[in-house]
Amino acid sequence: MTETNTAAAATAADRPVTVHGPKRALGARGRVVHAVEDISLALPESTVTAVVGESGSGKSTLAQLLTGLIKPTSGELLLDGKPVGTSAKARRAFTSDVHLVLQDPFSSLNSAHSVRYHIERPLKLHTSLRGAALDAKVVELLERVSLSPGEEYAAKFPHELSGGQRQRVAIGRGLAVGPRVLLADEPVSMLDVSIRLGVLNLFDELRERERLAILYVTHDIASARYLADVIVVMYAGEVVESGPATAITDSPQHPYTQLLLSAAPDPAREQAPVLRGRGAPPSLVTPPSGCRFHPRCPFAMEVCRREAPPSFAVGEDQVAACWLHADNGAAPAAAAAPAASPAPADPAGPDAAASTGSTD
Ligand code: SF4
Repeated sequence: MTETNTAAAATAADRPVTVHGPKRALGARGRVVHAVEDISLALPESTVTAVVGESGSGKSTLAQLLTGLIKPTSGELLLDGKPVGTSAKARRAFTSDVHLVLQDPFSSLNSAHSVRYHIERPLKLHTSLRGAALDAKVVELLERVSLSPGEEYAAKFPHELSGGQRQRVAIGRGLAVGPRVLLADEPVSMLDVSIRLGVLNLFDELRERERLAILYVTHDIASARYLADVIVVMYAGEVVESGPATAITDSPQHPYTQLLLSAAPDPAREQAPVLRGRGAPPSLVTPPSGCRFHPRCPFAMEVCRREAPPSFAVGEDQVAACWLHADNGAAPAAAAAPAASPAPADPAGPDAAASTGSTD
């Protein structure tokens, strides 16, 4: 972990991960759910990788898989290029390095306990800090997530905090064990719109300051563009397009990405968007044949119903799994994890980042 863009966590490029079932856990009792299909993904340090898709796209299953909460049916997880072991010691080491931030900051903290309790707990479990050193660490962690003064916030209870402040406590608790990878599953979707930006800016700071590899799972492609360096678009358990965030949002090459972008709110847009697609995501128990998007795709051809498209190179580090790109000279992309790219300059970035000091 010494160079920028070293993959901290990844799936093996030559052994992409697949998750089928378990049926009950994935919500279809007695039947096989094709939740994640042949996905390779690298999470480099100091990089935010956004996984974007509708409900049922498999994005949250992918995040859980990366935490080790569920096991792949096939494929392999890597940490620093090495397979994650299955021994208790290897699992403990992995859970120290990879931390999941949950969607709901209202249920992820126990209202009977103070903020100090929540931050102290992982420190007591994973470190030898006690007494004054433990108190100092609690304050430091709270201030690292912009809850300052830390002593004051440590004494509060969850009900005394806003949603954004609770999410900061949950992130501070995650930082207690010194993770190198943060997996954030819809971390702002339950917060008021007015305080989402502050939490997104906190992730931006953590990427820079703590050199964290961050996976940002969201249904909101506009926030992915704001925060992420790389965007991976998922549909019905498969990656349909991936690449640098600016390329994906400025020049989407897959009809599903185009549909997501046309449905995203855009204050600059004067007319109602033209939605290039229809219908709803398919069942993952019996996904459509060929391209899984074909029942909704306005450009579907005969081949789309028959054969699943491979990923075609459609730009620098940008690939799209769509037969429309088979005839334009785009070569099928090698099976490789999406590459990281430098953070895009966002017009809202510097000014918005300055507001991170807000505690929501
Ligand atoms: Fe549409 Fe065919 Fe491309 Fe699928 S492969 S997105 S159905 S054009």
